[in-house]
Amino acid sequence: MFSLMATCCGWVRRWREPVRKVTLVMVGLDNAGKTATAKGIQGEYPEDVAPTVGFSKVDLRQGKFEVTIFDLGGGKKIRGIWKNYYAESYGVIFVVDSSDEQRMEETKETMSEVLRHPRISGKPILVLANKQDKEGALGEADVIECLSLEQLVNEHKCLCQIEPCSAVLGYGKKIDKSIKKGLYWLLHIIARDFDALNERIQKDTMEQRALEEQEKQERAERVRKLREEREQREREEAELDGTSGLADLDPEPVIVNPFQPIASVIIENEKKLEKKRQNMEKDNDGCSLKHKMDHEQIETQSQISNSSQRNSEFGLVENYQEALTQPLENEDETDQPSSESDNGKKKTKKLRIKRSHRVEPVSTDESAPKSPTPPPPPPPVGWGTPKVTRLPKLQLLGETRHNGIFSLS
Ligand code: GDP
Repeated sequence: MFSLMATCCGWVRRWREPVRKVTLVMVGLDNAGKTATAKGIQGEYPEDVAPTVGFSKVDLRQGKFEVTIFDLGGGKKIRGIWKNYYAESYGVIFVVDSSDEQRMEETKETMSEVLRHPRISGKPILVLANKQDKEGALGEADVIECLSLEQLVNEHKCLCQIEPCSAVLGYGKKIDKSIKKGLYWLLHIIARDFDALNERIQKDTMEQRALEEQEKQERAERVRKLREEREQREREEAELDGTSGLADLDPEPVIVNPFQPIASVIIENEKKLEKKRQNMEKDNDGCSLKHKMDHEQIETQSQISNSSQRNSEFGLVENYQEALTQPLENEDETDQPSSESDNGKKKTKKLRIKRSHRVEPVSTDESAPKSPTPPPPPPPVGWGTPKVTRLPKLQLLGETRHNGIFSLS
């Protein structure tokens, strides 16, 4: 009668127990059979499995437990992520490929590393000695010996159970009984020490989150500093090149040295003027030449001031030398002394100086004979298209901004 009452009380107590959420990590070398095991537990056919690249998650309900198993990839390069899951884990499932004797040493080192981690030591561990169906697979005792399992678990105060099994024998309800038995054992141990484990996990998880937050902030700070340094470097480079921030927006800046000494430019021009004067004198046309030279000198001075004004207006690099010498070269080509043609030349000079800012076809030149047929359209633009031909197309891209493709503006 008393025993019947005790049994009933046990049922009631268990029935009133709250649902417990438990997280487990499933680790082991790559190819050990972790994913196959996870799939089998979940009720999926375990043979068509691809190696886990990052991690996968299995959720299952077992009595009053809602169990989440993190199946973590076992490749050497990604084992580093395992520790991120230790804080929230109530226990460990370690899968061993019992048929791969050559990797037993690596398995032992890996297991030792897991068990000595401060967030794992003291927690229960289930070792699945997998692939028992394979010929030559090591039995339970051999695996214990190869891994020095007793020594390891005693050292790190972990309760341990080893189950020889085969993940591909069955799945769902027909899963290898050893896997089922091992899982029951693990959950039983967790249930027994639940309060202590739970307290530890809450504390470890909070610490882990704080650490992650701190690392996140440190990363953001590092990125901010790097960005600032890069922007500072770009500003300094721009100042050295004599360009301003606006120059960045110009897809085709004129690349010339802005620091031409003005004295040398003037001397050079004077030399040219002198040479011209001598040529003209030879032609016995000194009077009109003098008049013309005066004109040119005035013109040249005004172009210098115009150019520098434009420089300050647009912040672009200007080629003073080109601005100063170009009119003279034009003069050489058309040697017409009349005042009307002088006026025409002035217009031409100014237009050409303006063009030195931008790379555009010379077809806008007023002095050039007008072509009866319009110039051909620019070629199609791609990333490999030279910058000069890309200029007109950039405006088109601006128009397509609303389609969400690209915008350089
Ligand atoms: P993981 O890298 O640890 O996730 O290993 P997988 O679960 O991807 O398994 C690796 C390979 O071993 C797959 O081809 C599985 O089909 C196979 N495998 C897994 N468990 C067993 C088993 O118990 N017996 C046999 N014969 N093959 C298995």
